[in-house]
Amino acid sequence: MEEFTGGGQPQDRSFAVKLMEHLVVPTFVLDHECRVMVWNRACERLTGVAAGDVIGTRNHWQAFYSEPRLCLADVLAQGRGDDLATLYPFHTEPSALGLGVRAENWCVMPRVGKRLYLAIDAGPIYAEDGRLIAVVETLRDMTEHKNAQITLQQLATLDALTGLANRRSFDEKLQSEWNRARRQGDSLALIMLDVDYFKQYNDIYGHQGGDECLKAVCAILQRQAFRAGDLSARYGGEEFAVILPNTSIDGACEVAERIRANIELAALPHAGSQIAACITISVGVVATLPTPDSPPESLLAAADQALYSAKRSGRNRVCSASPDKLPQVASPTNVG
Ligand code: GH3
Ligand code: MG
Ligand code: MG
Repeated sequence: MEEFTGGGQPQDRSFAVKLMEHLVVPTFVLDHECRVMVWNRACERLTGVAAGDVIGTRNHWQAFYSEPRLCLADVLAQGRGDDLATLYPFHTEPSALGLGVRAENWCVMPRVGKRLYLAIDAGPIYAEDGRLIAVVETLRDMTEHKNAQITLQQLATLDALTGLANRRSFDEKLQSEWNRARRQGDSLALIMLDVDYFKQYNDIYGHQGGDECLKAVCAILQRQAFRAGDLSARYGGEEFAVILPNTSIDGACEVAERIRANIELAALPHAGSQIAACITISVGVVATLPTPDSPPESLLAAADQALYSAKRSGRNRVCSASPDKLPQVASPTNVG
């Protein structure tokens, strides 16, 4: 403590301590052994932990987390830059540790009982001989900002009615998986499904009834055990799509049949269907090894053709398009 405040006149020191105490930015200071030296009023207000309870201890983590872990100031004091990535989903480069580091994190804040998203800065303080003598950590409550960001992101990527990924997310995912499959030589599969006689459903049960039905279909779709890399999306209207990376046509057909069977099993009444007493779906499936000459739209077009076949051959069934039936896009050398 002496080293940290050392140098100036006693009245300067007491002014410096007062300044720190009353700073409106929540701030705490650790010594080089990670003991709390300063815990200012704003930090007390943010964390609900009184300075008297934490000064001189290494218990500062308890103000932020329910399990023992390093805080950003500890990372700096202990030179543990390699741990940053596992401790903080967002952080600046550990290579600049000597200049200080910035990170962001959700903190459970056990004393105040509410989860906060904190932006955290930790800066080292060195003695004249270069020894690290303390680390200052300042905190900013970014919860409102973060929640607004999450809401905006959801609005941009999720379908408002069903909560599934929207068309925009679908297009982005299809493009990125297409590129990846092409690079790695993997098979990429796509399932397109469309509710049968849905116009009649709306006519009988009203548009709101139709909306409820789409939500129910979507809930069944979401209950399927997809793999982590798969994406199910509302493609548009009463049409849904599932992207299945690294999946063969047989694997994709199995998934498609499971979805179709589960929709039928759910027995959602449909008095206007011409083929059953309940909601059914028609499904088109396709899988291919993407080539440099063909765009992802060729996969979409083929899945659409397979879906059309399922409709034409009686609905409530799965049809697949074989990869060699994928519409080929002429490369420049072929044109002419
Ligand atoms: P098919 O068996 O050939 O698929 O016939 P269909 O009646 O399902 O197909 P069609 O394309 O003729 O009609 C689709 C209907 O889906 C028409 C449209 O009003 C309805 N629809 C599209 N989006 C929504 C929605 O968000 N809510 C509701 N309630 N209806 C929707
Ligand atoms: Mg349709
Ligand atoms: Mg339809």
